[in-house]
Amino acid sequence: RFVDSQGAAIDQGLLLRFVAPESFTGENVVELHAHGGLALLQALLDAACHYGARLAEPGEFSQRAFLNDRIDLSQAEAIADLIEARSDAAARAAYASLSGVFSQWVRDSGTALTTVRIGVEAALDFPDEDIDNEVDTALLRRLDALSDDLVQSILEASRGLRLRDGARVLLLGRPNAGKSTLLNALAGEQRAIVTATPGTTRDTLEVELSLNGLALTLIDCAGLRDSDDAIEQEGVRRAREELQRADVVILLWDAASPADAQSLRSELGEQAALCLEVANKIDLAHAADSAAIPEGVLAISAKTGSGLEALRDALVDPLLGGGLPRFSARQRHVQALQQASEHVTTAQRHLTYQALELGAEELRLAQLALDEITGVVTSDALLGHIFSQFCIGK
Ligand code: GDP
Repeated sequence: RFVDSQGAAIDQGLLLRFVAPESFTGENVVELHAHGGLALLQALLDAACHYGARLAEPGEFSQRAFLNDRIDLSQAEAIADLIEARSDAAARAAYASLSGVFSQWVRDSGTALTTVRIGVEAALDFPDEDIDNEVDTALLRRLDALSDDLVQSILEASRGLRLRDGARVLLLGRPNAGKSTLLNALAGEQRAIVTATPGTTRDTLEVELSLNGLALTLIDCAGLRDSDDAIEQEGVRRAREELQRADVVILLWDAASPADAQSLRSELGEQAALCLEVANKIDLAHAADSAAIPEGVLAISAKTGSGLEALRDALVDPLLGGGLPRFSARQRHVQALQQASEHVTTAQRHLTYQALELGAEELRLAQLALDEITGVVTSDALLGHIFSQFCIGK
């Protein structure tokens, strides 16, 4: 029986007791299982608070689990990422991180680093003893291996990050090229307004979708053509802004007007994003002789769906580097790995010239960077920031 603050019964249910340290947080925990419903749960919460409980802060359970060494920091972050995953692949990668795949990799690299550090520090501590050249070379070779490993892990963590955050794909083309139609076809529902009047997409329109396991934000912008219309000009300005943020740009042109392709390319100019060229409306008779479509350009019909499968693959494959990463990651993890990698590279340089003190210091900094990932060293500010982004009750 569950009773309220006056002792009156409000429900009956199950009380589960988890004895420390075998609970998720590592502390003594009880769970009340009631019948549910807003009023009843509120009454139960009120009663629990009356008898001395308080409401949890966002992420407090995960934070306690971290502080009690049940999970490390990157695992705690993976809990939030698992809950917020926007695609099946992102959820799987987050679960892999939660179960410790990423943490284990970081710990293994840390161990390899420690071994090298011990060697270098020993050489520093006993300068009079001749350092065996063999040991030195072996040590350097170990460091080389670690350095290669770090570079690989940065690539993989970056893919994990992309999986978590998704990618921004900008649809760019002359008015009436079929951008809205393509957006709708990829999204599988009517999101953008399709009309036969050029220049109707004045505002940017964003659609979230999951393609082959990757979360994508598709952005349909105004065409890049110059216009006297003030509203349309604003649309063009936004399109150029989006161009800076996009991970991929789809240059869409009407297969019947290959001249558009050339002018779009020159308007685009130099920019970092991956660019896919797509010729649309190949279902139309005038476009049927596809001789005009150059090699490397994807030929599609947004209307009939022809060629869309190839477009989906062309979009997702380069973003994920040909495969799904083994774990999810966050920006701060990628940064920490980059720092560690830079310090290791500098250490390699110093050690090659027997500048042991400098090398040892760089290796120490590399270790600190790795330790930040799993939370061996953290600031309270960082912890506060990470856990405040959790939902309540997690
Ligand atoms: P946007 O201005 O680039 O967004 O172009 P829309 O998507 O509004 O399309 C302009 C016109 O082209 C509409 O009448 C569409 O129905 C038509 N359209 C778009 N894609 C295709 C296609 O693959 N084949 C054919 N036949 N018509 C298309």
